[in-house]
Amino acid sequence: MTVRNISCFCEKKTKIVATIGPVSESKEMLEKMIKTGMNVARLNFSHGAHEWHKKTIDNIRQVSDKLGANIGIMADLQGPRIRVATSGDVIARKGKELLVSDVRYRKSVSNMSADIFYLDYPGIIDCIKEGDTIMIEDGLIKLEVSKKSSNFLRTKVIDGGVIRNHKGVNLPDSDLNIGVVTKKDIDDLKMALENDVDFVALSFVSSAKDINGLRKRMERILGRKDDLPQIVAKIERKEAINNLDEIIESTDIVMVARGDLGIEMDQSKVVIWQKEIIKKSLKKATPVIVATQMLNSMIENPRPTRAEVSDVSNAVIDHADAVMLSGESANGKYPVESVKMMAEIIRNTEESPFDDVYKYMDLHISSEYATVVRSAYEIAKSYDVKAIAMISLSGFTAKLVSHFRPDQNILVVTNSRKTFHQFSLVWGVCGYLFKDDNNLEDLIVKMLEQAKKDKRLKSGDSVVVIIGRVLNGEKMRLVGIRKA
Ligand code: PGA
Ligand code: MN
Repeated sequence: MTVRNISCFCEKKTKIVATIGPVSESKEMLEKMIKTGMNVARLNFSHGAHEWHKKTIDNIRQVSDKLGANIGIMADLQGPRIRVATSGDVIARKGKELLVSDVRYRKSVSNMSADIFYLDYPGIIDCIKEGDTIMIEDGLIKLEVSKKSSNFLRTKVIDGGVIRNHKGVNLPDSDLNIGVVTKKDIDDLKMALENDVDFVALSFVSSAKDINGLRKRMERILGRKDDLPQIVAKIERKEAINNLDEIIESTDIVMVARGDLGIEMDQSKVVIWQKEIIKKSLKKATPVIVATQMLNSMIENPRPTRAEVSDVSNAVIDHADAVMLSGESANGKYPVESVKMMAEIIRNTEESPFDDVYKYMDLHISSEYATVVRSAYEIAKSYDVKAIAMISLSGFTAKLVSHFRPDQNILVVTNSRKTFHQFSLVWGVCGYLFKDDNNLEDLIVKMLEQAKKDKRLKSGDSVVVIIGRVLNGEKMRLVGIRKA
């Protein structure tokens, strides 16, 4: 059996993650989005009931099976998102005082006559200090804590507005010692694991402990240690920036979650962090996604702004593995057009020389392993080679090769369905899945045959072959150049 990765038909190497929502949940829309270049479908568990998620996962699997496309599914857990809890709107006037408490103290302070609103996380005000900033609704409203009492905070309004129920709250200065996985997340996680998703994204990660905790929890729920979904660490808190190295070390995939990061950090430095996070991830051969507001105006308009086009293009030049759509594909007016636009920007940028320069090939994985991969890359570069072909059962070898960002196609065969789907997020990788075949030579031969049928190779093309993580205890080896 073989399944091909249709993304290569769009002739692009940078992958697209598209958030699925009310405007894109139908099979018709999913089919259009896959054909235009979507590689990974993201389900945002901040919204939607489990029935909706289940139905959508079924739709995605059915459509990708029908098309023979390799589409990964990402369950994005809401994490400890703090929200406003208020029965009526509260007007925040610049310079004025406003009281803030949380739902645990609601009863004891609700008889106070001053303007007050609540945060929906019980005990959260214990984590907030005098001088801390409270940001509401994407940072549009800004308060500063002037005095802390035992069960409420006095704040000064710095940027005013109307504080409405359920709006998101960010506490960039506070040391939030609240768990990163909430009760809702655990329910959502169980549901996602039952439905065999390929990636689980964790919001508001602070440290490697959060990642390792999630991995242990998944192991407990599934009763096994291998074949887990890959973990996506969303970098969107100051603490995550402070602990960046250990987070990249422990996670499978990194997301530059610029929406919340731009509230928690100085907005003008987010692009610098984007570059820093991508650079560090690449050094570890860890796939990295750039997310949020990439084509934001396409929620309303059929064409993006020039600045948005430039943003996508620059993420490709930064060597991100993937770029992401949120509202554009989930609840905007132009979901398919957004994917199409993104794919077109990617293709044009990849054709230009500007994404070729790659000077961080300093793989921090010392071993004969890295040497074999590097040699394959060097050979491919020096001769007229059309593809680097390999067997990679865990996907590790594929990621190492991808890390070099070679010009050639990266053709990877695996016998694990999970690994196969996870290639949907790795730059430049065209995955092939062959079940029921344990002969390594045969696997490579079958893949090259299929690649010719898919028109990724022509008869007689030169291909560099690597045998990666291996069956039967055999060592990894470089097989050399062969003809397709
Ligand atoms: P969100 O995460 O869309 O789940 O908030 C992405 C971001 O904050 O950029
Ligand atoms: Mn976020």
